[in-house]
Amino acid sequence: MAKYFLYARKSSESEERQVMSIDAQIDELKEFAVKEKLEIVASLCEAKTAKQPGRTLFGEMLSRIDAGEADGILAWHPDRLARNSVDGGRIIYMLDTGKINSLKFPTFWFDNTPQGKFMLNISFGQSKYYVDNLSENVKRGIRQKLRKGIWPGKAPFGYNNDLRHHTILPDPEKHKLVKRIFELYATGEYTFEQLIQKFDIRTKTNKIMMPGDMQHILKNPFYSGVFRFNNELHQGTHKPIITKKLFDDAQAVMAARGKRRKKSSHGYIFTDLMSCGNCGRAITAEKQKGHVYYRCTKKRTNCDEKYIREEELLSQFRDTLQKVSLSDDWTKNLLAKLDEEQASAIQSSSVLVQAVEGQIMPIKTKMDKLLDSHLDGIIDKQDYVNKKEKLLNEKLDLEAKIKEVRNKGNDWLEPMREFILDSCQAKKIAANGDSLQIRTFLKKIGSNFTVKGKKFDWLAKRGWKIMPDFGRFPTVQARSDSNREPRFWRPMFYH
Ligand SMILES: [Zn+2]
Repeated sequence: MAKYFLYARKSSESEERQVMSIDAQIDELKEFAVKEKLEIVASLCEAKTAKQPGRTLFGEMLSRIDAGEADGILAWHPDRLARNSVDGGRIIYMLDTGKINSLKFPTFWFDNTPQGKFMLNISFGQSKYYVDNLSENVKRGIRQKLRKGIWPGKAPFGYNNDLRHHTILPDPEKHKLVKRIFELYATGEYTFEQLIQKFDIRTKTNKIMMPGDMQHILKNPFYSGVFRFNNELHQGTHKPIITKKLFDDAQAVMAARGKRRKKSSHGYIFTDLMSCGNCGRAITAEKQKGHVYYRCTKKRTNCDEKYIREEELLSQFRDTLQKVSLSDDWTKNLLAKLDEEQASAIQSSSVLVQAVEGQIMPIKTKMDKLLDSHLDGIIDKQDYVNKKEKLLNEKLDLEAKIKEVRNKGNDWLEPMREFILDSCQAKKIAANGDSLQIRTFLKKIGSNFTVKGKKFDWLAKRGWKIMPDFGRFPTVQARSDSNREPRFWRPMFYH
């Protein structure tokens, strides 16, 4: 009785889902062997793809045949044996040299004759063609995705690939983190390392993220809704996590960072925040007996400003933050009012929005025509890419305009909302914040920080001026610009 190796190979390619499972393959092959009276020396079951040469079990099997353990192979189809010209060639060669006498396939008839080998070769070739075709299909798939505005690769950090619908969706948790990362980075107060440490950001293998990866995230325009593929800008259909403005702000910080010299090395956190209120010089700090003291640099002249201890400074900072803070109750009420305002403003802007949308239509048409002329070979790739980018930018500008129009008349709403949330934050930072949070917050709400006579002073930014007398805040002003009934709280600090 002729001796055979039973060789089954699992399909890893998703396109081959129809191919039988490995257990079913083996069952069928065993039944086939009984019917055909074939003796099975060993059953080998490979998990690797046959697209590349170098499968372990496949190689072992051929050596064992070479050593005379068997004289044939039983497999489901030639494509189980070879999908590349090297492995296919080895089998044909062993048939030529008589090492293999016979190949049996339930799905393919093979005769060990010149004609049979020719057919087998074609079958291997077809498998190869199928693989080549597959990658052509993949390319086609990529083009199709690009046309639909879908990033064809692995979803970037903060997003997930939705395999079922072939789209990319924001990760329910991580997208918030990404937004926060951009916001913090755009303040200019954080380095890549600090962001990674602050949020303990880890890779998929649970290692601390490298700064380069953080930079990669912060440079990726994907988060604002567009992406580059082969140097071509595409407008994505995925949900953006951040606005274009925030993305641009982050890029500006990164560009400035690249130029800026290293920060002063002593690392006392409040020195670059303040200046001397007496002579205007910079503040320096030093440590003595376990305490950090801040003082005027007093270079070359006399300034009689006294030292101030960091603890004292911090407690003054906390007092300041306490004064500008808003209770949770007020926060809630004010935000609710804000929502009402916003709803009515959106309604009145819809006419203008339609007008701008009318301007976008012809651009879309132009883009379609441009693509057609490129596909027809009328304009070359580079020309197409350049023109397309120009049109796309026009389109993005108009779309930004729509957002602007939607907020027209209520462009104070967003800053106001932020302000309310910030002042609610202030209370928490005053109570529990660390030095860095306090410094960041102070810079957000004020400028011209000085120390004079051991007292900290500052200039509040717009919106924060009235805060010291906070009790009056909710009774600000009636709206004067509308014939609607006055709303009690149109704030006077945003206009
Ligand atoms: Zn001074």
